[in-house]
Amino acid sequence: MVREDESQANAGLEEASQRLEGRLPEQTLRWAVATYAPRLAFATAFGPEGLVLLDLIARHRLKVDIFTLDTGLFFSETYTLWRHLESRYGFKIRAVRPVLTVEEQADLHGDALWARDPDRCCEIRKGDPLDHALRGHAAWITAIRRDQTRDRASAQVVEWDRHHGLVKVNPLLSWSSNEVWSYLRDHDVPTNPLHAKGYPSIGCWPCTSAVRAGEDPRAGRWRGRVKTECGLHARPAPKQQPLPTFSLARPKGA
Ligand code: SF4
Repeated sequence: MVREDESQANAGLEEASQRLEGRLPEQTLRWAVATYAPRLAFATAFGPEGLVLLDLIARHRLKVDIFTLDTGLFFSETYTLWRHLESRYGFKIRAVRPVLTVEEQADLHGDALWARDPDRCCEIRKGDPLDHALRGHAAWITAIRRDQTRDRASAQVVEWDRHHGLVKVNPLLSWSSNEVWSYLRDHDVPTNPLHAKGYPSIGCWPCTSAVRAGEDPRAGRWRGRVKTECGLHARPAPKQQPLPTFSLARPKGA
């Protein structure tokens, strides 16, 4: 019986994903709100893609719980951009923080854990806080694109996130970087000034460096390591999670 429910729910997500593939991001966002709000979250790190979704959410006044995983290790430019966006849109972007401050982490695990064990550092400062923040939600929106990394190439517009036990909605999957930047320019959205200084992808300051001409845009993240993801979008399921059995409404235009 449980298996039957699971396969029905999976089929529903697949059907929704196929229907939304190639649609405008705002159509996917509207579908997500109609289907999952108020238990719908959006996590942004203020990258260009996240700023497109933030602008669309604000422009269409969509009911979404917006937060950022504040590791305590953002560049000062990122903190300034965060405040700027809040004043532009007139709402707060909730800070989700790790249990340990940077100093407490150093006391417990030694200085510069990011240099010795970045996976553990990402787990403490991003993964665990995200797990906590998503608890109680039915779905979350992410700003990933398929051509960013190999892990992201097979993502679907709507898919089951086994790690967190909720639905993941990816409205920008088929967009290119050029489309993202065109949108930001056309809508005069403020962006991180570090992008103009050779930082196409910006994370925590200890793990982000500028890239040289011709390098992969993410080459500056964890430079010199095999690590390419903080793990938020490619983590294993901790245990078997039940699939949802709520209905997948079809809003106007989707
Ligand atoms: S990106 Fe670097 S500093 Fe930030 S949480 Fe991951 S390992 Fe730690």
